[in-house]
Amino acid sequence: MEEKKTKRLSEIDEKKECIIVKVNGHGGFRHRVMEMGFIRGEKVFVVKNAPLQDPIEYRIMNSHISLRRSEANHIEVIGIEDKFEECKYEFKGTFSEEINQTYTKESKTISVALVGNPNCGKTSFFNHATGLHEKVGNYSGVTVSSKIGTFHHRGYTINLVDLPGTYSITEYTPEELYVREYITENHPDVVLNVVDSTNLERNLFLTTQLIDMNIRMVMALNMFDELTASNSQLDANLLEQLLGFPCVPTTAKIGEGITHVLDHIISVYEGTEVITKHIHINYGQNLEKAINEIKPLLTSYNEIAVDFPFRYVALKLLENDSVTYKHLEKYISNIQPIRAAVEKCRSEIEEEYGEETADVITNAKYGFIRGALKETYQRNNDQKAELSYAIDVVLTNKWMGFPILFLFMWIMFETTFTLGAYPQEWIEIGVTYLGEWVRNILPTGILSDMIVDGIIAGVGGVLVFLPNILILFFFISLLEDSGYMARAAFIMDKLMHKMGLHGKSFIPLLTGFGCGVPAIMATRTLENPKDRIMTMMAIPFISCSARLPVYLLFVSAFFKSNQGLMLMSIYLIGIMFSVLTSLLLKKVKFKENSDQFVMELPPYRIPTWRNTLIHMWEKSVQYLKKMGTIILFASILIWSLNYFPTTNQEIQKIDNEIAQIEKQTTDNNENRELLISNLELQRAAIQSENSYLGKIGHTIEPIVEPLGFDWKMGVSLLTGAAAKEIIVSSLGILYQSDIDADEESEQLIIALKKHKNNNGENSMTPLVAFTFMLFVLLYFPCIAVISAISKEAGWKWATFCVIYTTGIAWLVSFCIYQVGSLF
Ligand code: GDP
Ligand code: MG
Repeated sequence: MEEKKTKRLSEIDEKKECIIVKVNGHGGFRHRVMEMGFIRGEKVFVVKNAPLQDPIEYRIMNSHISLRRSEANHIEVIGIEDKFEECKYEFKGTFSEEINQTYTKESKTISVALVGNPNCGKTSFFNHATGLHEKVGNYSGVTVSSKIGTFHHRGYTINLVDLPGTYSITEYTPEELYVREYITENHPDVVLNVVDSTNLERNLFLTTQLIDMNIRMVMALNMFDELTASNSQLDANLLEQLLGFPCVPTTAKIGEGITHVLDHIISVYEGTEVITKHIHINYGQNLEKAINEIKPLLTSYNEIAVDFPFRYVALKLLENDSVTYKHLEKYISNIQPIRAAVEKCRSEIEEEYGEETADVITNAKYGFIRGALKETYQRNNDQKAELSYAIDVVLTNKWMGFPILFLFMWIMFETTFTLGAYPQEWIEIGVTYLGEWVRNILPTGILSDMIVDGIIAGVGGVLVFLPNILILFFFISLLEDSGYMARAAFIMDKLMHKMGLHGKSFIPLLTGFGCGVPAIMATRTLENPKDRIMTMMAIPFISCSARLPVYLLFVSAFFKSNQGLMLMSIYLIGIMFSVLTSLLLKKVKFKENSDQFVMELPPYRIPTWRNTLIHMWEKSVQYLKKMGTIILFASILIWSLNYFPTTNQEIQKIDNEIAQIEKQTTDNNENRELLISNLELQRAAIQSENSYLGKIGHTIEPIVEPLGFDWKMGVSLLTGAAAKEIIVSSLGILYQSDIDADEESEQLIIALKKHKNNNGENSMTPLVAFTFMLFVLLYFPCIAVISAISKEAGWKWATFCVIYTTGIAWLVSFCIYQVGSLF
């Protein structure tokens, strides 16, 4: 190899100028530095560079920027002043041309490292590319070393390094350590990952480690001749889209595909490769949580970020990797707090999974591999699929996958009702009892009315649904923890692509069943802003848990005979509208194809009670918090708007009448009581109509009337903008007045069913109930979601979302109600 003419930027003296030739290091670092303007070909002037001083000050693109010495170490440059001194006596006045030449030559020199398992054909590739003749074949006991060969390709000089074969780059064997150190210390411009295509599952393990390191990569799918001969099929085009770097079929033995590989190496190096994107392997909830806990402990140590991505360091620490600990000790004087935090995460994970954290990570990596191969790799039929994943053959089967998914969903929703009905009843009885008790001990008056009709009725109306929500979350975490959710995402992936979304959007959408706010946040995992916006616009139609109480109320009131089915259909309609929204956006706004990503297939696990209960608890805390704050507040507000103003002439008249009747002494006591209770009902109705809330309701009545809703429903929808559970609270408060005095139970359901319109007909029919549920499903998500969208995508998209969702809700409800009324 020729002698290097370049220097490190950190080595350039003060007041000297230089040209950037290369930025080394992992993707995250390069991205950051290049964003600051340190781009190949740029001139840099060293403003201040005292020895041992950190940071160093530079002027680039006419702005002053300081870099740490460790960062400047990763930038290769040619010193202009040096050249000036050197060339002065040889060529007068032509030094700039000389620098140009050196620059072109140096910046067109690419160092490439061959990384792969033993016997995958690295040396064969090396020999063909370099024209050298190294001995092929891996012997045991071969000294651990590398060979370097230099050759030219399309005007570039390529320094190819043949590294020893390894199955992994941890620290167990000298080869592994050697390869790892070579990559992290020599910073090859591009890593060429050679894999044996006939044994992809094992070969790709090393690849997953390279992905974690976030380095520029090209993959040679070697032994492609054998793959073809075995009648197996591999979709290399899809694979490279999933993995985010070029994957080129090769037969290194005869030199086939090598030119193609080299072309891709150049385009990756030049940053012109269209396939290149940075992907993350998803390690599953528990590990991702641990990674996110460890990363903030590292971020204050910038030197670490120069050498490795934080995510990689966090993973290595979780694997208890001693080399990484040693590396950290170089920069961090007291490593104990980090070690303690890592150990805490590790013991949590180990307790949860019952195995070493490193093994959990390994399993997740195989989950990633399995997911990638499932989509791209068709094994020859006479080779049997592994028994351990035989379940996947059934669960992700083209024909059986969907019916099984729907079966699970149906079981989930059905159980939510049948099992939830018992605790629901107990809470209901408790709430009623509490209300009566409070009314008895408190003197009659505003306070008693507020506590009983406002707080207890409003909050209690939502509280009764807690068991159902717990059961739903229990199922969701069960499905997640067992590994089935990943399969569900997998079989949905193809469908998602058809919608213009991709598999990764499925996770935020799934999260949307819980709550829209974290779902909107979860779209951050999507790299492409268009995909993010499309997913965000689809999320509000995914029915969140806050809407569940509304459905539960109406489904159990009006669709007693097939509750589970009814509930599922509401959810499915929601899904349908999110699909339609994506399709619409894809047609109208975002016409380009979206990226492809691997859908991980983690190993199946028996979910533990601990994990499941923790997830359930987290959700219920959220729910209870909401009840204690926003729902409580809204209940009081709605109650007072409904309660005031308290007196008017009509009410006065009725009060007088009641007093009159009470005074009368007739023999017919029953008749008298009936008269009184009727008058009281009338009084309450008038009171409600004339209240502030009634006035608001009547103002918006013309908007909701064509949908079959009365003003009370209109008002409850309005209040639901704060949070959708409040709809139930509002209904509870508003329909309270309809409850017959002689009715034992104060259930809202009965009140709803009995409610009469002005013509004395039942105003609430199954059709109205269904239309109302649809409206609740589709309209304005809630303030929290809208503000989340506004934060993530800008206020324009948030505004669009408000108008779009509410518009759709009105239109759909209008059509359903009007058409339904014809029958
Ligand atoms: P290394 O251990 O990764 O350096 O692999 P080698 O280059 O030493 O190759 C190992 C064995 O695989 C040798 O016998 C090669 O001839 C053979 N081999 C390499 N590439 C191919 C290929 O593309 N197809 C086939 N069929 N055999 C290959
Ligand atoms: Mg070899």
